[in-house]
Parts: sequence; structure tokens; C-alpha cells
Amino acid sequence: MERTTIDFGIDLGTTNSAIAVLDGVNTQIVKNNDDKDITPSAVYIKKSGEVSVGDRAKNMLERDNLCDNAFVEFKRRMGSDFEYVFPASGERKRPEDLSAEVLKSLRGDVSQRLGEDVKAAVITIPAMFEQAQCAATKEAGRLAGFTQTALLQEPVAASLAYGFQKEISSKSFWLVFDFGGGTFDAAVMKAEEGDIQIVNHGGDNYLGGADIDWAIIDNLVLPRLKEAGNFEGIKRGAARWRATLARVKRAVEIAKIDLSRKERSEIEGLSVTDADGEPIDFEMALTRNEVASLAEPFIVRAADICRKVLAEKNLPVSALEKTILVGGPTLAPYFRDILADNLKMPLDHSVDPMTVVARGAAVFAGTQRLAANPAWRAAAAAQGVFTAALKYNPVGPDEDPPVAGEVSAPDGSSVAGYSLEFYNNQTMWSSGRIPLKEGGRFSRRLLAEAGMKNDFSILLYAPDGSKRKIEPSSLSYTIGMTIKNQTVTNDIAIEIADNRKVTMVAKGETYPFRKANRDFKSNVELKAGTGDMLRIPILEGDHEKADCNKFLGEIVIKASTLRRNLPIASEIDVTLEAKEPGSIKVNAYIPVLDEDVDAVVEYKTHAPEKTWYEDQLDLDRDFLRDLEEKGDCDTDEASEALERAERLVATADDWESKQQAMKAIIEARMKLHAVKDAAAWPEKEEDANERLGWLDEAVEKFGTSSQKSEAEALKAEVGRALDRKNPQSLERALERVDDFRLKLEVDRPEFWKSILSYQYGQRNLVTDQRKADILFAQGAKAIQAGDVQEMRRVAGQLWKLLPEEVVEKAQRGYGSGLTV
Ligand code: ADP
Ligand code: MG
Repeated sequence: MERTTIDFGIDLGTTNSAIAVLDGVNTQIVKNNDDKDITPSAVYIKKSGEVSVGDRAKNMLERDNLCDNAFVEFKRRMGSDFEYVFPASGERKRPEDLSAEVLKSLRGDVSQRLGEDVKAAVITIPAMFEQAQCAATKEAGRLAGFTQTALLQEPVAASLAYGFQKEISSKSFWLVFDFGGGTFDAAVMKAEEGDIQIVNHGGDNYLGGADIDWAIIDNLVLPRLKEAGNFEGIKRGAARWRATLARVKRAVEIAKIDLSRKERSEIEGLSVTDADGEPIDFEMALTRNEVASLAEPFIVRAADICRKVLAEKNLPVSALEKTILVGGPTLAPYFRDILADNLKMPLDHSVDPMTVVARGAAVFAGTQRLAANPAWRAAAAAQGVFTAALKYNPVGPDEDPPVAGEVSAPDGSSVAGYSLEFYNNQTMWSSGRIPLKEGGRFSRRLLAEAGMKNDFSILLYAPDGSKRKIEPSSLSYTIGMTIKNQTVTNDIAIEIADNRKVTMVAKGETYPFRKANRDFKSNVELKAGTGDMLRIPILEGDHEKADCNKFLGEIVIKASTLRRNLPIASEIDVTLEAKEPGSIKVNAYIPVLDEDVDAVVEYKTHAPEKTWYEDQLDLDRDFLRDLEEKGDCDTDEASEALERAERLVATADDWESKQQAMKAIIEARMKLHAVKDAAAWPEKEEDANERLGWLDEAVEKFGTSSQKSEAEALKAEVGRALDRKNPQSLERALERVDDFRLKLEVDRPEFWKSILSYQYGQRNLVTDQRKADILFAQGAKAIQAGDVQEMRRVAGQLWKLLPEEVVEKAQRGYGSGLTV
């Protein structure tokens, strides 16, 4: 039967990649040309421009004269504007080009093994991938010749591989522990009947199996190698020793992998040449205990991250049903022992940790219907074949899934009197003849059996009972777990003035989304036809301060293109939407001008110009100086962080070190913000106590007994924020306090009376004496009559006549709900 769902899933890994296909309810790994389940994510380009992928490419890393023409770990740079240069051929490639080569190689394996030209696939991405990295992955799929791709988060894939055919009756939490070659990802998943979602995730981009290899090399191998010959200056990253170290690393890795099965193993077959040109055949023994103790600190680090990810959601380890193991290093028994000891929860590795992600991707692929070629209907009609547009889910928890649709005749004529039948060859179940309703419509529930893929033939009968050809002629359905929506894993926000931001989509919400916000006001004036500009930066990340987040793109409103002036404080409506990761569209609408502006979402991390680092350091230095001048705050840690950033900037000479320098600058800035917040704390505390005092006063005067206890609860909340010294939660709690107080006061004549008398006290400051006198007279009358509405109106008018400082001062005292 022809495929109706994508069915192919790809784990595009940092170190290794794999492709799997869904076959009924089972997944099958498609082996590569070397008869292996996994293909190293490595690309080599020969002088002639010929490309090799996988083991062949990885081997080139060990050849002194060719190693510069092979690259690995390019997944780390996805979404950046980095370019790989292949000196022999002169080719330049972006990370997505190299990923595309890996995808093409996997596609080729399918065509060789199964004789199928795969045009559609699900490709997995780490949960922590940012929008730019997702977009680059999508692009790699397109470059590899896929016409349809869907992205799936790796921990979701792993969970699906475990949960697909299991009955999950009640809500359960799983931890996906993915320890790969160079990156570690931890994700907490919630599995419920028929659905799996990410609850929280975390990880470390520089933690993985390679760390274990390097620990073995540094601690055990290099000291012995140096005894055997002259290896002056040999260490990780030394250009002179690149190919030699690649050879050592490969030999060490093979021995390490061997230790997953044996207690002892040998590093062997390692021929190297020392600095004096002496050839050396190196051999040494490794024991499982030695390697286990070198691996332990890395495993402990990963376990710590797991606990943090759980703690962030207040989940105790005991809430977890199990931990799913993913990634090559988790195959080692000592690894599991140390981890189980440390995490104290049951580990599950019943699905092969090396291929579980690809298998889960294939499971998901089975839930994704293939997009029909847009011309199929016309082509079918031209051959006199009837067509059906079908609505159904290929996978779901139901035993009797609904299917609905519409049947059309090839010449567009009526199908009145026709009927349809669904028939399952294996179970012999038939729907019976379903008479088509007006317009060829029908709907019906099918009957499916668990534990298998149910294929239904679709049969069409003319009014006289004779059969007609119909396209599609079949559909399939499997009872199994699906995922309803994928989770957004980083906040998406709009930057506003004063380095603040407004979150539009929060981490934890789901795709697809469409979010509109109509609260934004412009804070600059744009004079039509001039060079003025208004920028609306779009950010990704969850830092409170805008400049500590990742810049995703921006909306630029250019005065030169405007027909009329845009006054300050004009409403600007921002809309953000995305169907899946890496496909965000942003738009601004300006109601007063009735104009739309689309954002340019660039999806590229630039390696900034050299001056950028210096500029950023200058900003941080000024920040630090300001804080030091204010005195009374402890800047030690922040200035240390800044010094570290300065050192990294000074020595940054390649892409990786520039990324590290950029991160260090942001870390220093976060520390500076923290110092500033701490320094402002006494003032904040004082402000909080004052506002609590006003609350007490208002409750005392106007509050009922239940309002009194509500006020106590609010005060307790402020107290907690004060204890924790958390400025954000303090501000939120105080806003609630103010709102509550205002609610008590706003209907009270006494309150408005006090406002009006305060305003009267400021009468010599008003900007328009005549207008003010009229208002004061109206106010006095309203007080007499006890007319709250009128008192409110008059007070509102009077604020407009008073200087800003007076208003501000009063507003602090009387709540922020007043309009000025
Ligand atoms: P990635 O997700 O980064 O593509 P993988 O899950 O394929 O990575 O893991 C690759 C890592 O797993 C390498 O460091 C490799 O040495 C290690 N590895 C593979 N098999 C084993 C094994 N049997 N025992 C220990 N480590 C292994
Ligand atoms: Mg992986």
C-alpha cells in the first residue's frame, strides 16, 4: 500500500545520526552502507569537490595532510553565520549545508536499502534549540531534497518511542536523560492518555562522551605517550598535533566503548610519529574502574542538572515514574550504576539509547499525513477517477476513530445516490455502505484493532451498485500515543524602553500560536519623510533585562515611508505567530495610520564585528563605574566577571572562543544588574512598607472583615518577597496590594474628598488658574452631594492642570489606576 503518512524519522545528532521508518507499530532502523545503525555526523570534501559523509569522513580527521578538509559537530553552529572552509577544494559551507549532506546520505541509505525515494521526513531538534537553530534545521532538510519536513524535539521523540504502544492510564512524569557525544540535555516530560509534553528542560552544551575521552587522554594516555617519545606541546586544541590527537582519541574511544562489555581493554593499533619524526606503536591497557572514576564527575554534573530542572517545577524526584536513557555513553554499565546511585530513581534503557530518538521520530512521522501533490486531484480527474478529501488522524487513542470527508466526481457532477465503504483486509471489518450526503459529504467511525496498523481500503459504489475508482484508495489508522502540541522552549518577547521587555509567548506554551498585543505605545515621534526610525526588537530568552536576551530580529518603522507623522504615544499593535519552531512571523500595525509593517526575523547569530565586543565591554565598564561611585554595594563578583569577559575578548580568535566571550559579557552584565538591584533594595523595602501602610489605612477605614483577611494574605505575600529579596516578585505583589487598595477606595467619597483637598492644597501650582477655579467649585459641589462619579471626573481634570512632579508624588500615594 502506498504511504499516506511521512513514516520516516531522522535523529540529526551532533556526533551521530540515524534514520528509522515506522513499519506497522514497530520501528526499524535503516542501516547505512557500512551496515551500521548510526552514521557519524562528519563531512569530508575532497580536492575534486566530492563529498563523503560518516565514518569515511571521520577517518580523514586522523590524516595529517587531509584533516583540515573534514568537519564534525557542525550542529553546534546551526543558525549562525559561520562558514566552514575546505582548503583542498576551496569550498565554503554553512552549517546547514553540512547537515544537509548528512541528511542526503541518510536519504541515500533508504533508497539503497528499501528502494524508496524519501521526500518527507521528521527531523529531531534538541529542546534547547533556539528559533534560529530550528530554522537552519528546516533549511538543511530543504537543501537535502525533502519537500516536506516536520521538526520534533528530541526528548519528545524518545518518550514517544517508549510510550507509543503503552497504555498510559493516569498522568505520569518521566525524565529524559540524553547524554550525547558533546552535549547533555535533560527534559521532564508529562505523559497523559494519548499525549506527551515537555514540562521543563535544561542542559549543558559542553558536556558529553567526548569529555570522558579527553579525561582518559589527559590523565592516562598523554603521560604514557610522553614517556614513549617527544610529544612536546601536545594538548587538546594544539594545531600541530591535531591529526595525532584525533588518532589517539579514536583509539581511546574504541577502547572505552569496549569497556561497556568487558572489565579490561587495550588501546591498540595506534601508530603515531613524535616531534623528532620517530614512529611509535603505542599500546596500553585500560580498566573499567579507571574509566568509571574519570567519568564520575561528568555524570554527577549531569545529575545535578536533572535535579535543578525538577526543582524549577517543584517536582520531587519521587514524582518521576522513570528516567529514560538516551545517548551512547549511557550504554556503559558503570555509567548507569553511578547515575542510578546518584539520582535514586529507576532507569529505563529498554529501547536502544543510540537509536531511540530516530525511532521516536519515526513514530511521530506516522502521525503526520503526507501533503498531497497539489496537482493530484486534477490528474485523477483527468483520468476519470473520483477523488475524496479526507479528515482523520492517522494515530490516536480511540478504538473507533472518526473519519469524515467529501467525494467529488471527475467531471464535477453530482454524486447523489453514490455510497462509500471502508474495508479492512486483515480484520475483515467493513463499515457497510455509507450513502453520500449532499455535496458528497460523509462521516463515519471506523473500528480499529490495537497493536497493529489498520489499513482500510476505500471503495466507491455508483447508484446502480457498480464500483468506481477513487483516490486515495486507502487510509490507515493505528491506536497509539500521539502528541497534541509541541512546547515553546524559550520565551519570545518584545523589547520596550529602558531595557525592559514584554513577553509575548512564554516558555511552556505550545505551537502553533498567534499572539497579539495592543498595549504598546510609541515613545518617539516620527516625522513623515525624514530619516527617523522606530525600532521594535524581538528577543528570545527569559532574562528580565532586555539586553541579556538573544536578539531575534526587529520591526523597523521608517519615517521615510510614512504618509503622515506618527505622534508620540501612538498605539502600535504587535502580532507574533508561528506554526512550528523556527517559523516565527512578526507584524506591527499602526491604527492611526492604518499601516502594517512586517519584521525581518533574521534567524542568524552573527559573529559580531570586533568593535562590538569593545563597545559592549565599554557599556559594562560604565555600568560598573556608576555602581562603584554610588558606593555601598559589593561589586567584587561583578567586576571579576567583567575581568573574565575582558580576558576572553582579548584572546578570542576563533568562532568558538568568540561565542564564549559573548556569553561572558552577558554574564557580567547580569551580575551588574544583580548588584544594582541589591543596592536599590533598601529603597525598595522602604517603598514597600509605605505602600503597605496605605493599605492598612484603607482597610482600617473601609474594609469589611473578609477584605481584612484578604489584605493580610497580600501583606504576607509582600513579606515573602521581601524575605527572598526578589525584586520581580516584590513588584508583582505590591501591584496587587495597590490594586486591592484602590478597589477599596475608588467608590468611597472620603477617598475622593481627600484627593480633591490635596489638589486644592497645590492650587498655586496649576497651569490654568481660571479653569482650576471652575473645577474646584464643581468639586466642592460634588462633595456636598456625595457624587463619587463627579468627584472622580473633576479630580481627573485637575490632575491635568498640575505639574508632573506633583502628580507623580500623589500617584505614588494614591495608587496608579488614575488616568492623567
Ligand atoms: P549525539 O547525540 O551527540 O549524536 P550519541 O548519542 O551518538 O551522540 O553518543 C556519542 C557518544 O557515545 C560518543 O562519545 C561515544 O564515544 C559514546 N558511546 C557510544 N557507544 C558507547 C558505548 N557502548 N559505551 C560508552 N560510550 C559509548
Ligand atoms: Mg543525540
